[in-house]
Amino acid sequence: MKVTFYGIGYVGLVQATVLADAGHDVCCVDIDETRINNLKKGIIPIYEPGLTPLVEKNFAEGRLTFTTDAQFGVEFGDLQFIAVGTPPDEDGSADLQYVLKVAETIATHMTTAKVIVDKSTVPVGTADKVMATVQSVLDAKSSDLTFSVVSNPEFLKEGAAVNDCKRPDRIIIGTDSAVAEEFMRELYAPFNRNHEKIIVMDIKSAELTKYAANCMLATKISFMNEMANIAERVGADIEHVRHGIGSDPRIGYQFIYPGCGYGGSCFPKDVQALVRTADNIGYESKILKAVEAVNYAQKHKLFAYISKHFDLATNPNALQGKTFAVWGLSFKPNTDDMREAPSRVLMEQLWAAGAKVQAYDPEAMEETQRIYGSRSDLSLMGTKESALNNADALIICTEWQSFRAPDFARIKEQLSEAVIFDGRNLYEPERMSSKAIQYYSIGRGLSI
Ligand code: NAD
Repeated sequence: MKVTFYGIGYVGLVQATVLADAGHDVCCVDIDETRINNLKKGIIPIYEPGLTPLVEKNFAEGRLTFTTDAQFGVEFGDLQFIAVGTPPDEDGSADLQYVLKVAETIATHMTTAKVIVDKSTVPVGTADKVMATVQSVLDAKSSDLTFSVVSNPEFLKEGAAVNDCKRPDRIIIGTDSAVAEEFMRELYAPFNRNHEKIIVMDIKSAELTKYAANCMLATKISFMNEMANIAERVGADIEHVRHGIGSDPRIGYQFIYPGCGYGGSCFPKDVQALVRTADNIGYESKILKAVEAVNYAQKHKLFAYISKHFDLATNPNALQGKTFAVWGLSFKPNTDDMREAPSRVLMEQLWAAGAKVQAYDPEAMEETQRIYGSRSDLSLMGTKESALNNADALIICTEWQSFRAPDFARIKEQLSEAVIFDGRNLYEPERMSSKAIQYYSIGRGLSI
């Protein structure tokens, strides 16, 4: 089939590439010229395991093309996928300007019938807005071309996106058009072979399914962080509690890790957007508001430990001139994505208190440089060991695999004081105490 994607970011690039790899012809359109020119040269704009060879192969074999020419894109695909960003507006609701701009572009250039597919995460009712936008442009041209709008939300996880697109848990298709459904079934047939993964429903339910999924996952995390905060106040260990509850198959072990808060481009904005959607229809979403509030507090947790350790209450200048080694900058492992990352909240608090940061991340160094430029109080280090040099403490923000079994003797040797603030509970408190390392982690005994 011939398919066009608008928005070649984490979602658009991965999904377009996987569809091309299955044999479809996919045209990728983005307004970012640098991004498109780099892609043509084989320079991939994001880090995603397994993506680079797949892009190279499908580009070389001619199934994947990259362009900034939207008119070419509109003419190319029978299916037109909108995969642009939907960032939070000032009040937290989803900003639909990029989605509606693409709808307008499609309508402006279309000369044959199209199936327009919303892959971006968009609030309930957005498909209606896309329809209205397209129809008004067609009306202005006195065109009687037909089109339909489908909701096909994306569920990939950054860090495992290629695999998630190749082997999706489910493919949600929201449509009221039998023709559009048939197009979508044919497109996804290669991914629907072993068992039925396609779930067809009405458009609004499909739009809400995406928010419900992300809000459920964010709720699991905030719930565990709330349990961790209770655990540390009553002298319990949240890691024992986690094992204890996860063994119940109704609860399960997935996504119940306490930590220094969730980040990324999806959970924070999608929780906020659903809260706003509910507010706008006169319903107060009490659970989701609490999920957000708990997460906000959790992102400040490591700094609270640091304040306590260095006794900021007595001496507000205690962090002036201190240096902190920070391991892990991306919002989770296996990605370079820094959007809403807990590391950013932490570093900004450290800088505000007059401290310096020596940071290391296996993949997010370029992105950190892009965001923070060349601040004099941030040094980006080439290895996790060099980040420790002459630092006063180690802070862990992301649970990269390579941080799980470090050389603790070396850590002690390099730090001026043997203290670790761990936002991901990577180590055992008993082992740390046997090595005479002061160890602060989440929900394991130390109350703030
Ligand atoms: P992104 O920021 O990585 O990429 C968006 C791209 O759209 C950018 O390259 C931008 O230049 C491009 N763009 C903007 N306006 C355009 C236009 N008019 N025409 C063509 N291109 C245009 O975004 P993302 O992380 O891929 O997210 C895209 C959508 O998918 C969002 O709604 C997001 O919520 C949703 N989503 C994201 C994830 C994820 O893990 N990142 C997962 C599921 C769903």
